[in-house]
Amino acid sequence: MRRVLIANRSEIAVRVLRACRELDLATVAVYSEADREALHVREADEAVMIGKAKARDSYLNGERIIAAARETGADAIHPGYGFISESAGFAAACEDAGIAFVGPPASAIAAMGDKAAARRLARDSGVPVVPGGEVTAGDEALRVAEEIGFPLLVKAAAGGGGRGIRTVRDTEELPQALAEAAREAEAAFGDASLYVEKLVEGARHVEVQVMGDSEGRVVHLFERECSLQRRRQKLVEEAPSPALTPQTRAAMAAAAVRLAEGVGYTSAGTVEFLVDRDELFYFIEMNTRLQVEHGVTEMVTGVDLVREQLLVAAGQPLEVAQEDVRVDGSAIEFRINAEDPDNEFFPSPGTIEELELPGGPGVRVDTAIYAGYRVVPFYDSLIAKLMVWAPTREQALRRGRRALRELRIEGVKTTTPLHLRLVDDERVRSGDVHTGYLEELLATGEGEGVAA
Ligand code: ADP
Ligand code: ADP
Ligand code: MG
Repeated sequence: MRRVLIANRSEIAVRVLRACRELDLATVAVYSEADREALHVREADEAVMIGKAKARDSYLNGERIIAAARETGADAIHPGYGFISESAGFAAACEDAGIAFVGPPASAIAAMGDKAAARRLARDSGVPVVPGGEVTAGDEALRVAEEIGFPLLVKAAAGGGGRGIRTVRDTEELPQALAEAAREAEAAFGDASLYVEKLVEGARHVEVQVMGDSEGRVVHLFERECSLQRRRQKLVEEAPSPALTPQTRAAMAAAAVRLAEGVGYTSAGTVEFLVDRDELFYFIEMNTRLQVEHGVTEMVTGVDLVREQLLVAAGQPLEVAQEDVRVDGSAIEFRINAEDPDNEFFPSPGTIEELELPGGPGVRVDTAIYAGYRVVPFYDSLIAKLMVWAPTREQALRRGRRALRELRIEGVKTTTPLHLRLVDDERVRSGDVHTGYLEELLATGEGEGVAA
């Protein structure tokens, strides 16, 4: 492996580029017409324009991306997250073209890509799943619903990014929720298949990072807690979880490894669970890619996950052995989105007039913005990930507050004021939160401004 094409944009494209550089791998960026001025384009050894701003015409155009790899002699493609990263068809097309896909085999992506099928796989591997079932017709949904009881969720089998999910409180709400979820799923994923899950109330989102190689070795790198969410999208993530007994932690890690082994998993992947108030855990899905929040795991374990992905894709064994994986200290990530938290998180694209990034001990910023850069409105609003590490969680929170105060971004609205409120919140500080907590907090703080 000599030259890697990075089939993504923004901070994750830059993150992958850096790992390539450290391995002396040449880099090829791809970009849309809207991304001519993007940092990943400037930083890569070569860059290929692949189409119009709309993702469908560029970052989701697998054929064009493989053609760009051929044109530039790239022998590997790293898909980052989002876009084509979880497309089994794309991974297979890479395999056919003799290009290494930096990710799991197409078969493993396909096995986990249908979330209803993934539930069955989990159950068959002895991993607990949330009570629920598939629905192929409305009356079947009613039958499953009556079996598991309300409240429940209708979820898109092809779902991701928190989309295609609807809460249902009683029988009457069911038909409309099914229709809405199907419509949203069809529009977002081109697949309207649905399934139903019991709503686990007061649950935490805890996920296990796994990593596998082509020799069949699968290791886990412990967990991340991602319970601070808005609209089922993560906003703050940390490692380790502040609220797991050693027994639960070990059981979840073992379950994740078992599941990954069962599908012949290689590369980085994440097994997501809900943990209820009694600390019972339930599988919800597996993301067969690098996760947005992978950095907090890197900070507490010292393992470079992108480096490992590249080595594995080159046919090498994992550098990291299970017995060497240890969690040291505490790391927290704050997602800095170009959104206005005082105006229902409305996207806030525009030119970055001024930029001052935090630094000092234990601070990491993954970003692709720079002063003068124009945040374009076509893609995800994530513009930076501010991560902090410290020996204890308490110190990490203090360091987070200090770093958030140092961060200055002028020209676009960002989620920074909300994060400053969160690091001072009593419930956040004590680690006593669930996936609905942030929205409860936002509802009570209405009209005060997030920085209040
Ligand atoms: P993570 O699980 O890594 O936190 P997110 O849910 O924040 O990831 O998603 C990361 C990015 O990938 C977002 O841009 C999101 O919209 C996108 N994404 C996730 N899953 C899918 C999917 N199945 N199809 C399309 N985009 C997806
Ligand atoms: P996506 O593929 O969009 O990431 P997930 O299935 O991972 O969808 O769910 C996203 C979020 O929705 C979870 O992190 C959690 O907050 C919430 N959620 C999902 N399933 C349930 C459930 N059965 N009960 C309660 N909350 C859930
Ligand atoms: Mg998820």
